Amino acid sequence: MLIVMNMNAVPADIERVVEKARAAGLKATPIPGSQRTAIAITGNLGMVEPARFEALPGVLEVIQVSHPYKLVSREFKAEDTRVRVGDVEFGGSSLVVIAGPCAVESYEQTLSVAKKVQASGARILRGGAYKPRSSPYSFQGLELEGLEILARVREETGMPVVTEAIGTDVIDAVAEFSDMVQIGARNMQNYPLLRRAGKCGRPILLKRSFSASLTELLLAAEYILDQGNDQVVLCERGIRTFVDHNRATLDFSIIPAVEKISHLPLIVDPSHAAGDPAKVGPLARAAIAAGADGLMVEVHEQPAEALSDGRQALRPEEFDRLMSEVRRLAPVVGRSSEVLARS
Ligand code: PEP
Ligand code: MN
Repeated sequence: MLIVMNMNAVPADIERVVEKARAAGLKATPIPGSQRTAIAITGNLGMVEPARFEALPGVLEVIQVSHPYKLVSREFKAEDTRVRVGDVEFGGSSLVVIAGPCAVESYEQTLSVAKKVQASGARILRGGAYKPRSSPYSFQGLELEGLEILARVREETGMPVVTEAIGTDVIDAVAEFSDMVQIGARNMQNYPLLRRAGKCGRPILLKRSFSASLTELLLAAEYILDQGNDQVVLCERGIRTFVDHNRATLDFSIIPAVEKISHLPLIVDPSHAAGDPAKVGPLARAAIAAGADGLMVEVHEQPAEALSDGRQALRPEEFDRLMSEVRRLAPVVGRSSEVLARS
């Protein structure tokens, strides 16, 4: 950490900062400049709260030199983390595609769409049993019944399932019935939920909040790793910007940024960003080209009848076409499409 002093800071101001740092067991080294003094703070094992120094007289700015996260970083672990869900692995050479409806609506609907996306090459089934809806009057999900349906469909198809835990009150049930627990965009900064996710015994799919910076996303993941669970897949799903031609702006630039800083795998959800089936394919292809480890795509057999997010759902035949494109694209960007084979 670097503490930059005001031009008019007096020696007593500098001494006060140095004393405070030393009292906290840190090393403080003043670096006098031609106009102002900066003080280098070193020797800290964890993160030092900038606020401890910001309010002191004569302090202009506190600059953090090292990252506030540790366990998720490549400095801590250089090699890519592989996240296993059943016999599927994220973060290796193979791309992984998760597909299914936004919400579990019935056993028949879920089973039928699951068989179709599986035949097209999706390896993990998605479907919300607990839905975090913007309006309290919208369909909120079948809840426990939805979890039971997912478990039955897994039995029938052999597909592992991922479904969302919207609160600490339901995460144990979600973990019991599913193979991977999703933490949604709205809950990315629900810290008690993140801690529970770290202890739930399942791999986690952590979606980026629509207003989170990369640092905030990585800090959210850090909460999970800090509880002993390093099986975390990050998911970019679009952020809020001024553009009004999409539901959210898919931030492709986060793909190489995460790759550089973190060992965790990252997939892209083009559906929630597109908000329109016509845009899902182009966004999905671009995500693979930019280096994503996989995709999560919403698919519904009758989008017009869907109880949630029908406006962006691909029909199974559209999803099948997208999967053919992804299979062709994978080797171009050095990825294997082996696990995406039609079955
Ligand atoms: C979802 O995956 O259905 C969902 C609600 O996504 P998000 O949390 O990204 O809005
Ligand atoms: Mn949805």
